[in-house]
Amino acid sequence: MCLFCKIASREVPAKILFEDDDVLAFADIHPAAPTHVLAIPKRHLASLDDAEPGDALLLGRVLLAAQRAAREAGLAASGYRVVLNTGRDAGQSVAHLHAHALGGRAMAWPPG
Ligand code: AMP
Ligand code: ZN
Repeated sequence: MCLFCKIASREVPAKILFEDDDVLAFADIHPAAPTHVLAIPKRHLASLDDAEPGDALLLGRVLLAAQRAAREAGLAASGYRVVLNTGRDAGQSVAHLHAHALGGRAMAWPPG
């Protein structure tokens, strides 16, 4: 089982912010911004590149979980960034699809 599957099954502790039957949002252990939340599908999907058309609803739920966590952190007015690092060149380090929601400071563009 991968790290984020273990977080979803509570084998590894995390600060859980939101969950429903299909998705989970929890605090990133090494926050890169004042608010840094990860939203994941509970079902293992290695990356966005492994998603298929049948996963469309699940992907939408992951994004809405990121939105919810950002709103609950008070970021709706100031804004936030949602990122899905996908594969080696993007720096994906955990092979379970996750959307980062980052906010609470101004972001640079383009990302490094
Ligand atoms: P990525 O580099 O896009 O794959 O993002 C993986 C993220 O997972 C990083 O921001 C890590 O800080 C975060 N992370 C790794 N281990 C844990 C953990 N046990 N609990 C919460 N976040 C974690
Ligand atoms: Zn997994």
